[in-house]
Amino acid sequence: GFACGEFTPCESGVEGLFLCGNLAGAKDIPESAIEGAHAAGLAASLMASGAAESFPEGPTPADWREEEPKIGVLLCECDGYNSSRADFNALKEKIASLAGVSFVETIAHACSRAGMSEARGVFAGKEPNRLILASCSERIVADMYNHMFKSMGVHEEVLGFADLRAAVMANTDDTPLSTVAAAVKSSALKGFAVQVSEVADKSVLVIGGGISGMSAALRLSSLGHPVHLVEKEKALGGLAASSRYTLGGGEPAKLAAELAAKVESNPAITLYLGARVLQAKGRVGAFKTAINAGESAVEISHGAVVLATGARENLPKIHGLGENGRVITQKQAEALLAEGKFDGKKVVMLQCAASRSQDAGSLPYCSRVCCTHALKNSLKILESAPDAEVTVLYRDLRAYGDYELAYLKARKAGVLFTAFDPENAPSVKAGSESVEVSFSEPSFGAAVYLSPDYLILSVGMAPDAEEALRLASLYGAEVDDNGFYREKNKKPATADLSVPGVYVAGTGHAPKHIGEALSQAGAAAARLSALLSSGVLRAPKNLSAVDKRLCSRCGLCVEACPYGAREIDEAGKAAVVDPILCKACGACVTVCPNKAASQYG
Ligand code: SF4
Ligand code: SF4
Ligand code: SF4
Repeated sequence: GFACGEFTPCESGVEGLFLCGNLAGAKDIPESAIEGAHAAGLAASLMASGAAESFPEGPTPADWREEEPKIGVLLCECDGYNSSRADFNALKEKIASLAGVSFVETIAHACSRAGMSEARGVFAGKEPNRLILASCSERIVADMYNHMFKSMGVHEEVLGFADLRAAVMANTDDTPLSTVAAAVKSSALKGFAVQVSEVADKSVLVIGGGISGMSAALRLSSLGHPVHLVEKEKALGGLAASSRYTLGGGEPAKLAAELAAKVESNPAITLYLGARVLQAKGRVGAFKTAINAGESAVEISHGAVVLATGARENLPKIHGLGENGRVITQKQAEALLAEGKFDGKKVVMLQCAASRSQDAGSLPYCSRVCCTHALKNSLKILESAPDAEVTVLYRDLRAYGDYELAYLKARKAGVLFTAFDPENAPSVKAGSESVEVSFSEPSFGAAVYLSPDYLILSVGMAPDAEEALRLASLYGAEVDDNGFYREKNKKPATADLSVPGVYVAGTGHAPKHIGEALSQAGAAAARLSALLSSGVLRAPKNLSAVDKRLCSRCGLCVEACPYGAREIDEAGKAAVVDPILCKACGACVTVCPNKAASQYG
């Protein structure tokens, strides 16, 4: 009853209908959150393709914080409803005498097209730095007016609302005045907390040209972002380019080739093959990354980055792997099976090989995908040789969701699944050309000896930990103890790294299936686009500030700031705040010994 294709997560097959969460397959919270973001990105791509009308972007709003309040008030007559219940002349006179009010005008019908046009004209002509619209409920008019003023380059904080209609319905003489007066007072105060905005570079750097990186690049380009895609190899494709089939019947290599063709022909994507990231500086909205592309060095300006550097099959030096041709990995078995070169009739698969163990050379984690790789290869072996004997030795079989059906299918097909205790793991004797596996049969405790044609090891996946650490460090992000990029939040934000503007997609984050990697690539693109698509980044309203006269440059606030938003400006002889990085946490204010650090608002 679950929907969606293996390589088309969240797509229902019906244009405009996207699926996510458990409807699209049983899953945990992080995968559901990833799919939610990916589905939103798919919908946004569709809208960006021309189906939806977008509101025009206005100029960057100016900063009114340092100006004295100059408040305009527009009283809506509501086609006579308000003006017949209150004495508008007296009301106008009293409002005009309030502190900070520079003018009071009436408009006939604020929520009509003509009324909005009238309001726009008054604002443009009288140039107040705050405006109160006294009409009806804010819920009715706020969106319309915020959109209109946004297109004029007016910051949303400039607008305030007063529910004059509810006030006149109260049928008391002073309610209309007190309602508008409260809005005027609030407007004058909040005027000092107007946000700072900054133009952001909308282009994106994607590092890694596997299916996750390519998919993220294509999604980003469909959302209107210029993309720079850097791949260290001479060709696109990554690990998937050498993967032949999946348990669901998909062909990863074919998918990789299709994505590569789309990337190469996409004019919005600049491709750098055989390239390496050398240095990076800046922050969200304004990164600069130096790469070497062939003989030349190139500096790329970009507003955000997606780390999609992937992982590879782990190749531990155990059981004769790499020395004995009869000891191979699941991936090597897959290649032999796909090419019709697999000649084994007696096969043993050893799960969790050098995995889930603290032993030197082992991966301490579960790689999530190798149980299903064992299932798909078992079924493939029996498909081509129904009389083959396949024994899978496992600790516990992690075939979640629909993969459980493949497990049942494999059992029915004759695959023998035998559990082992990690304290009493199977032992392997590998000669130069032969291999012998012995283990204790769990039900009877009898020792079993097998001499298979092939011992296939489920070896798990590992990132290039050194390179991941290097890249993460360049952008101020982190990797975990195993060399995977560390996400900002394990539940709702697993495509975001801890640094604003830095995202992750694919197996560089953790081992995952192709569909999951594609979902995360879509989620990274969607979340990134939501941040950068307007081309404007906003500082928090209660942004931190520095009083230069009091600052002794002690640096305590720089140390205390958890977001790296403060530094000492030697030229300016004071601490300075990066308004875009500041999260208004207040830590700097609490540590400053000179009361030089403060917050607006
Ligand atoms: S996916 Fe299966 S074989 Fe791989 S580490 Fe996890 S439990 Fe072991
Ligand atoms: S308010 Fe918080 S985030 Fe902003 S500069 Fe101060 S310590 Fe940094
Ligand atoms: S803690 Fe206060 S005095 Fe010290 S550098 Fe920061 S703002 Fe200046």
